[in-house]
Amino acid sequence: MTTDTSSHYPHLMEPLDLGFTTLKNRALMGSMHTGLEDKAKDFPKLAAYFAERARGGVGLMVTGGFAPNVEGWLSPFGSKLSKKSEVKRHLQVTKAVHDEGGKICLQILHAGRYGYSPLCVSASNVKSPISPFKPRALSSKGVYRTIKDYANSAYLAQQAGYDGVEVMGSEGYFINQFLVTHTNKRTDEWGGRFENRMRLPVEIVQSVRDKVGPNFIIIYRLSMLDLIEQGSTWDEVVQLGKAIEAAGATIINTGIGWHEARVPTIATSVPRAAFSWVTERMQNHIDIPIVATNRINDPKVADEIIGSGQSDMVSMARPFLADAEFINKASAGKAHLINTCIGCNQACLDHTFSGKRSTCLVNPRACYETQLNYSPAQTIRKIAVIGAGPAGLSAATILSERGHDVDLFDKAGEIGGQFNIAKKIPGKEEFYETLRYFSHQIEETNVTLKLNTEATAQQLINDGYDDVVLATGIVPRKLTIDGADHPKVLSYIDVVQKNATVGKRVAIIGAGGIGFDVAEFLAQEGESPSLNIEKFNKEWGVDGNYETRGGYGRPDPEGAARQITMLQRKTTKMGKGLGKTTGWIHRAALKMKNVKMVTGVDYTKVDEQGLYFTIHGGEPQLIECDNVVVCAGQLSRRDLLAELEAANIPTHLIGGAHLAGELDAKRAIREGFELASRI
Ligand code: FAD
Ligand code: NAP
Ligand code: SF4
Repeated sequence: MTTDTSSHYPHLMEPLDLGFTTLKNRALMGSMHTGLEDKAKDFPKLAAYFAERARGGVGLMVTGGFAPNVEGWLSPFGSKLSKKSEVKRHLQVTKAVHDEGGKICLQILHAGRYGYSPLCVSASNVKSPISPFKPRALSSKGVYRTIKDYANSAYLAQQAGYDGVEVMGSEGYFINQFLVTHTNKRTDEWGGRFENRMRLPVEIVQSVRDKVGPNFIIIYRLSMLDLIEQGSTWDEVVQLGKAIEAAGATIINTGIGWHEARVPTIATSVPRAAFSWVTERMQNHIDIPIVATNRINDPKVADEIIGSGQSDMVSMARPFLADAEFINKASAGKAHLINTCIGCNQACLDHTFSGKRSTCLVNPRACYETQLNYSPAQTIRKIAVIGAGPAGLSAATILSERGHDVDLFDKAGEIGGQFNIAKKIPGKEEFYETLRYFSHQIEETNVTLKLNTEATAQQLINDGYDDVVLATGIVPRKLTIDGADHPKVLSYIDVVQKNATVGKRVAIIGAGGIGFDVAEFLAQEGESPSLNIEKFNKEWGVDGNYETRGGYGRPDPEGAARQITMLQRKTTKMGKGLGKTTGWIHRAALKMKNVKMVTGVDYTKVDEQGLYFTIHGGEPQLIECDNVVVCAGQLSRRDLLAELEAANIPTHLIGGAHLAGELDAKRAIREGFELASRI
């Protein structure tokens, strides 16, 4: 996964003439609901967020979704643009973007039955599996009224200074719900044969165009691959795409997968550009520009997609959360300095779906542009940062950028700490990019890096540091039961980092994030599907020939490399603490590999036979196995603290050294950032 910096990405950087306006390049920042759209008081923050990305060079941006009426709310009192009084707040966003030379469209999103609201409506009263509310079926009059509401919303967006709108027609929202018989059971002019089911989006685009006139961008997000049973056929998708073009759309954007689809579409385990083939299929049928999407996070990949004719533009959303300067860096031949989105969803989508403001694991400033800032240090201090894991890297580079004199120590021979283990997990190869980014940041910010150097308190005291930042991470928790020191007991570090030989039958103690990752590591035989689109499609049932409805075939995973049992003491569902939007993927992937999961366990002992345990004090049980791999959480490593404090050296704890429980890289990087901005 090297990043080519030689060509400066001519296809990506080529302007796009839309007739009445020209985009300065082919990069679209796709719509993301950040949580700043819902309240008028947050609009100054939203304006700063978009302004920074406009300054970063992206050709066109799309806001998070705004409902055209209250029935279309994503959640009660959420983002909406249906009244004149709601226009004013948007002016600050559009002005900020235009002042930076950018362009921005407002997304009109009617949630339909995905609305987390008792007022939600749909084509029919078919409840979705991902919302507790059963929708009311709209009357025919109600459908006509909704079309008018879309046009009104677009008109208000125009009044607010937007360059256009995006009509959200994918991901299983309202419009999608009219398109397929699975959710549209109507018998009136909006249901039955496909011509009737597709009338809604076509009439929406027509009435929006009538209302806003010719010189206003209309992007239509077309669901090109539903990935659900009874989804649209390819012929239906093409028929709709052509009709949308004829109705007056300026650009067709690609939508992949309904939210309820059981196929990962944007998580880090999805190969890069895994769905560009779908957009490519549409190229022959449509004359207006067409946009490829999903898991495009690298300018080289984006450039190749456009250069090979798969699409005219490329949509990247999360990559602009991770780095607002993505396009400027790429066009200046400095792609190696891009802070790459690793597809983790931990701080963006997981936040959105928990009702929290989005941000980014690798860039804590995202959506906090007015709040998380730093300025040059007033007094230069000599600072030692101990540990070059995510926390130490974040702290050291910002401290040095602020002008401090920073030495960064790690006893290992490479930077990265536990990320060096994470990047070896199948489906987490992207984690390498964060280490590539920080290795260049170290150079750019003039941090003095001291690898293979175990820091001792005495040395740090002797060397006269003004401050010490302890980012020394964690030590894995050890087993304390009988047989804990049996040769068949291994830690996750032995297995993943030190390549210990592991037998065919394995018991894993602990089912947190690391337990799940180790299970995936041990179950995987050969190349990871995350690096091979054909293998990924086969594993998850994506029909690459598009012969089935929705392009969703039968998942056909490869067999597991080992017979694996995962255990935890809690009685709660396995993987409950995993990411809100990715936990199901890990559970499904392991289920496909026949990994057994046992909860409510009391461990007893390990011996030559295997692992002994009871469930709720019941009969002793044995899992016969060749190895027991311990993934039982961690404890903070802060062995230098007492001596440094005794010597009165200001000492700061961040990341795992600060708190091992609930630790993840999101907290580690944010703590490094926050500390570094205030010393
Ligand atoms: P660490 O990464 O542990 O770094 C500490 C560093 O300090 C190490 O490099 C160590 O060598 C160095 N050190 C310690 N003592 C000394 C000393 N005396 N002198 C010099 N150097 C010293 N997190 C997520 O958010 N998402 C994930 O998907 C994810 N997946 C993971 C998968 C696996 C398999 C693993 C193991 C971890 C995963 N994590 C994930 C957790 C994440 O990697 C950690 O939360 C993060 O690395 C913690 O950062 P840190 O800087 O606090 O500590
Ligand atoms: P964790 O999530 O806290 O899980 C620790 C596991 O060990 C739990 O299943 C726990 O379950 C078990 N355990 C705790 N004490 C034990 C003991 N004394 N004996 C036996 N079992 C014990 O920690 P982790 O898996 O080590 O992960 C560390 C951090 O890395 C996590 O907090 C996570 O955020 C991050 N991470 C995230 C991801 C991700 O995909 N987002 C992936 C990997 C890691 P019981 O107590 O029920 O037995
Ligand atoms: Fe990408 Fe993760 Fe940041 Fe979301 S939180 S933008 S997925 S790196």
